[in-house]
Amino acid sequence: GPKNYSFMLRTKNPCGKVSNQLYLTMDDLADQFGIGTLRLTTRQTFQLHGVLKKDLKTVMSTIIKNMGSTLGACGDLNRNVLAPAAPLTRKDYLFAQQTADNIAALLTPQSGFYYDVWVDGEQVITAEPPEVVKARNDNSHGTNFPDSAEPIYGTQFLPRKFKIAVTVPTDNSVDILTNDIGVVVVSDGDGEPQGFNLYVGGGMGRTHRLETTFPRLGEPLGYVPKEDILYAIKAIVVTQRENGRRDDRKYSRMKYLISSWGIEKFRSVVEEYYGKKFEPFRVLPEWEFKSYLGWHEQGDGSLFCGLHVDSGRIGGKMKKTLREVIEKYHLNVRLTPNQNIILCDIRNAWKRPITTALAQAGLLQPRYVDPLNITAMACPALPLCPLAITEAERGIPDLLKRVRAVFEKVGLKYNESIVVRVTGCPNGCARPYMAELGLVGDGPNSYQIWLGGRPNQTAIARTFMNKVKVQDFEKVLEPLLYYWKRRRLSKESFGDFTTRMGFEKLQELVDKWE
Ligand code: SF4
Repeated sequence: GPKNYSFMLRTKNPCGKVSNQLYLTMDDLADQFGIGTLRLTTRQTFQLHGVLKKDLKTVMSTIIKNMGSTLGACGDLNRNVLAPAAPLTRKDYLFAQQTADNIAALLTPQSGFYYDVWVDGEQVITAEPPEVVKARNDNSHGTNFPDSAEPIYGTQFLPRKFKIAVTVPTDNSVDILTNDIGVVVVSDGDGEPQGFNLYVGGGMGRTHRLETTFPRLGEPLGYVPKEDILYAIKAIVVTQRENGRRDDRKYSRMKYLISSWGIEKFRSVVEEYYGKKFEPFRVLPEWEFKSYLGWHEQGDGSLFCGLHVDSGRIGGKMKKTLREVIEKYHLNVRLTPNQNIILCDIRNAWKRPITTALAQAGLLQPRYVDPLNITAMACPALPLCPLAITEAERGIPDLLKRVRAVFEKVGLKYNESIVVRVTGCPNGCARPYMAELGLVGDGPNSYQIWLGGRPNQTAIARTFMNKVKVQDFEKVLEPLLYYWKRRRLSKESFGDFTTRMGFEKLQELVDKWE
């Protein structure tokens, strides 16, 4: 039959910043060339699904023209840099976002083939190389980089994709520990940013039935003064470029390099490129999950309003209403790493009419959004992702209803919740290995069940069961939630409960459940 050239595009938006013009452009393109919906990703970007090959050039050039920036974030290089989406004017937030922008610029390859797009082995477009960023070429900082046309990527790019997130203390809206590099702003007592704590070696992807592949949490590398951050990032990226495994893509993420070397050796190799020693990691307060939903003050007299988007899919009435509001008030927006959207720069006088418009479309309270949906995530999976083994986005609405029904059955209250994340394959795009209940597709209509993540995304889950059929979820969930309700310590989360009980004990409870 005829070849299906349907194609997926991703934009690049450090910090999830989307200008008014770009939002309206994406909204139009989704109707004209896509499948009529916009999808927000877990890396604060748009995905446009279903663009046909013949339309690619038009779509890409339209995006490039309207964002004054770049398309990208596929391939073996740095993906979209995450930062908290909240448009707060606090110094540390602004500094985190500025740093994310700088890191994104630093790691934008200069060679044109970054933009090349290939469909079924055929090159269909090559865009111009992006502007040259000064810091990228400045090797005078005690660093010692090999010469090449690509000062950072060298002649062969990175062994594998590379992910970076920047945030401020306590704000773990970015899933900081799942990134190759996690960058945390450290401020002095007056709230003035001074430097950064760096975590390295996080990553989600794994391969089924291969115990030597695993999800991993980032671990502390050290502290750098603020003026050194780009040089430290460069040094880490070059360490991975020079030493990451290239013989087998399954083991080529930086987490495997750090696992095999150990953090001490990794640190000392990075320090050679960095030209300095890392300072000791600064002690910071506990991480918290932040959703930014509802109305908030930006700190500059304007307001912002966070809206929940199920699985990041904006369609139908939501799409129409968002477009109207964003267009009418010339709002800029931000995309969150939880696939939600934030309307920014709203004047006080607009709050009432905007509230009315959003409420009429069912987008604001008292809309019924189950707390389970607020923290849940699913990847696109079937029918959009070629790697998918089973459903994720299409299945999660029903799944969450079933989880809620079990909550009710065992007597858990409506305001209680757990973090549920579902992916269609072990690649883990929706970060299921950080969930309290992670479901990872491992066969047609079947999932691995992962338990042990935490509500603030600071622990890695472990496999509890394999090949659980969708229709059998209750047989596993009911006993687990029943015993959580009855045996948990005061305020103990489901994830901490499952970790404390131990999987052997839990398995016993599941096995003898009637
Ligand atoms: Fe595709 Fe797997 Fe990523 Fe889901 S987790 S989007 S199925 S690669």
